[in-house]
Amino acid sequence: MATCPRCRGHLTETHRCPRAPVRVAAEIGLAAVAGGLVGLLIVALLDPHGQMTQIDTVVVTVGVFAGIGLDRLLRG
Ligand SMILES: [Zn+2]
Repeated sequence: MATCPRCRGHLTETHRCPRAPVRVAAEIGLAAVAGGLVGLLIVALLDPHGQMTQIDTVVVTVGVFAGIGLDRLLRG
């Protein structure tokens, strides 16, 4: 069995090198920030006067997790 020159794992047809945990954490963090920003943008559009404080928090939180979820989904 051939070995992968990068990670030294078994080089099978479907081989994919495991990514460094630091990079994965950075990607998740970036996705969370991006999702949070989208949530904030939605809040700013829906609630320009900042009256729906509770909904604001919920939308931003959902945005953060949606960002992480989407990132995981797209990167497999
Ligand atoms: Zn590899």
